[in-house]
Amino acid sequence: MIAHPKASTSQGRSSMSETLNSGEATAPAATKVPVEISNVRPAPGQIALKAPRRAKPPKHIADFDMAGRREFLKELGYQSFRASQLSKHYFERLVTDPAEMTDLPAKDREQMVAQAMPQLLTPVRTLEADGGDTLKVVHRLFDGALIESVIMRYDNRVTMCISSQAGCGMNCPFCATGQQGLTRNLSTAEIVEQVVAGARYLKQMKGLEEAEGGSEDTRPLRVSNIVFMGMGEALANYKATMGAVHRLIDPSPEGLGISARGLTMSTVGLVPGIRKFELEKLPITLALSLHAPDDELRDELIPINQRWKVDETLDAAYDYYRTTGRRVSIEYALIRDINDQGWRADLLGKKLAQRGRGWVHVNPIPLNPTPGSKWTASRKGVEQNFVERLRAHGIPTTIRDTRGSDIDGACGQLAAKED
Ligand code: SAH
Repeated sequence: MIAHPKASTSQGRSSMSETLNSGEATAPAATKVPVEISNVRPAPGQIALKAPRRAKPPKHIADFDMAGRREFLKELGYQSFRASQLSKHYFERLVTDPAEMTDLPAKDREQMVAQAMPQLLTPVRTLEADGGDTLKVVHRLFDGALIESVIMRYDNRVTMCISSQAGCGMNCPFCATGQQGLTRNLSTAEIVEQVVAGARYLKQMKGLEEAEGGSEDTRPLRVSNIVFMGMGEALANYKATMGAVHRLIDPSPEGLGISARGLTMSTVGLVPGIRKFELEKLPITLALSLHAPDDELRDELIPINQRWKVDETLDAAYDYYRTTGRRVSIEYALIRDINDQGWRADLLGKKLAQRGRGWVHVNPIPLNPTPGSKWTASRKGVEQNFVERLRAHGIPTTIRDTRGSDIDGACGQLAAKED
């Protein structure tokens, strides 16, 4: 799975941690004393659809659209046109150091930035794998909660995998995040900040390369793809997630101007959430974490299936495709002797094909190991047979490349720890 198994911590990589730390000196986090977050492991099958109420993170311009930002600045006692200046610095230039914002009055700069763009994420740990092409960052939030995001460089794109919640309430037994339980929802700005931090890191990397007289590596250093496949169930934190989606795709300087076609929203199958998301009519790919074609097994693997069954979930996914024209991805972690039988491939192929042609493709993922789980990935021959059977039903199927598994940065392995 991993081309270059190599992991190192940020200690040996000062330029990287400095990059990710930039702004810390000038825009202090709102709370210096982190609140202790204690997590109780959920009992098997126990689901948390609503997040616990906790202190809210400080407001940030990334929480609002441009009109909201003007109001926000006014409420803080500044002139509303400062919103567009700050937006340019944040979304276009990726700058957070007030010293670099020379169009702002020198006497107000520090305070304005501290109030309107407080530092929400503090990188505590950086791990790399795949010869440096995969980077996992653990961030601490204002209240001490930890989240993770992953940057993956490919020949023709950079994909970021971001978190929408601290922990997750869906309690899927094969997923490390699910075993942590749900600490809280992230705010819109906390979601957006993960991408801005990643974009800033890539930009500085580019700067370093140029300073060294260029590099032979011509691969892109801009975030082009974003998958909501980090910690959390994004559709269960709908409002903050939609705010983040807009900040990501809205043209700069209102947002980052990333193409909606580069975004993927992954869900465990919250049917009302999928239906609501369909109504947004955005060309974003929907990924459905199915993992079993039959209710008997899916009830166990994905506890929310007890509420919304396989067929109605597939219907919602199909309708999503009909409205948006975006081909749906079915995620299927292949677990040895649990969900990898030939008959399950046939049942899945049949259920997908009977709804139509060309609307879906399947991404089998070799199960990544998680602590305390007795399950492992399917044998290679079994995996191949599963793929071939799906294809025989006319369903395009490609095994998902899984990055970063040796740094616990791969699907289902995100369970943020400080060390
Ligand atoms: N809550 C979202 C995002 C979860 S993570 C969702 O459920 O879709 C993204 C993908 O990784 C999901 O498809 C999830 O089911 C899968 N996954 C979780 N644990 C895994 C593991 N141990 N090995 C491989 N994939 C896993």
